[in-house]
Amino acid sequence: MTEQNKKQKGPELINVEYGHPRRYLWSTGEYVGKTYDEAKKNKKIVSNMCPKCKKILWPPKAVCGRCKVDVGADFRELPQTGTVLQYTYLVYPLWDPHYGEPFANPHANAMIELDDGTIIRHFLEETDEKKLKEGMRVQAVWKEDESERGEGTADILYFRTIKDKKTKKAAKKLKD
Ligand SMILES: [Zn+2]
Repeated sequence: MTEQNKKQKGPELINVEYGHPRRYLWSTGEYVGKTYDEAKKNKKIVSNMCPKCKKILWPPKAVCGRCKVDVGADFRELPQTGTVLQYTYLVYPLWDPHYGEPFANPHANAMIELDDGTIIRHFLEETDEKKLKEGMRVQAVWKEDESERGEGTADILYFRTIKDKKTKKAAKKLKD
């Protein structure tokens, strides 16, 4: 039996195009809105600092979960370099739940400790599994065109591997 004949067995399958628009607008609120604005206009990562424990919260929050106090709008700029603490290497085809587009596979999704200690999750530019490692140093790479920005930290395309004076120290720290 040819491949063509095998395909013709069973019920006839029909293909129905189903429009599913996902474009909508919603308010990001005062605090998260500030983070979106700074990313779009200035390619900066900002978040608010708790007046009591002096920790920068990520993502920005109205109330500090540790101190149970109003955080307010004391925004600080976060560094754009950091160290990969852990990563997940994805090969399975998944859809980005925020924007409804398929991820380009394979890709690595990482927990990154920025140089001020703030931990954020983002993608890595490096897709070669052999070159990925915990302790690698990375730096944010932004979408260049401002008209394409406006999606918060998704305005950062990914984090690129860098070599800097903290490279050796970061790798050693994770080994210990
Ligand atoms: Zn606090």
